[in-house]
Amino acid sequence: MAKIGVLALQGDVSEHVQALERAGNGKVQAVLVRKSGQIDECDALVLPGGESTAICRQLESHGLTKELKAAALSGKPILATCAGLVLVSKEIMGGDEGRVKPLGLMDVKINRNAFGPQKESFEADLMVKGLDKPYRAVFIRAPAIGAVGSDVQVLASIGETIVAARQKNLLALAFHPELTPDPRIHQIFLKMLEE
Ligand code: GLN
Repeated sequence: MAKIGVLALQGDVSEHVQALERAGNGKVQAVLVRKSGQIDECDALVLPGGESTAICRQLESHGLTKELKAAALSGKPILATCAGLVLVSKEIMGGDEGRVKPLGLMDVKINRNAFGPQKESFEADLMVKGLDKPYRAVFIRAPAIGAVGSDVQVLASIGETIVAARQKNLLALAFHPELTPDPRIHQIFLKMLEE
């Protein structure tokens, strides 16, 4: 049984646990990650949405920053959603630098306030690479990917704005796949365990 760790310092943790178990069909066990040593025991990791400034601080104070970086570099699949996307990026752009220290794991630049305060939250039907029907995605104070490196595959966009991408073992989304009953995004992630 694959063990999937959900970083549980802050944010929508229990929704991810449920979504993973639903998508995994009894074949995965989701565990909450809070302490040093736990990341090593997991086969894959989810970095949930929340507040990237707070998560970033808590990663440091729980001594998890190094372990998370090592897990990403070792090739463990990582699903980074919303604030998680901000965390794995290599750079924050758009005048919002300095408040979060991104981990630099994925070759993307992030605009934390891409959709502006007037669009704090919304839903959109996305065409996601690898899915044959549109995916109804929930965006909450969503960041967006403003620039991608050559190793990064864009998976979904709204107009010109990139909202989902993959680089090797990292799957990163500006939206919240745990907040909809559609299991397909978590299924894509769990498939990465077999690669
Ligand atoms: N914009 C938030 C941040 O940068 C993320 C919002 C979310 O995770 N729903 O932390």
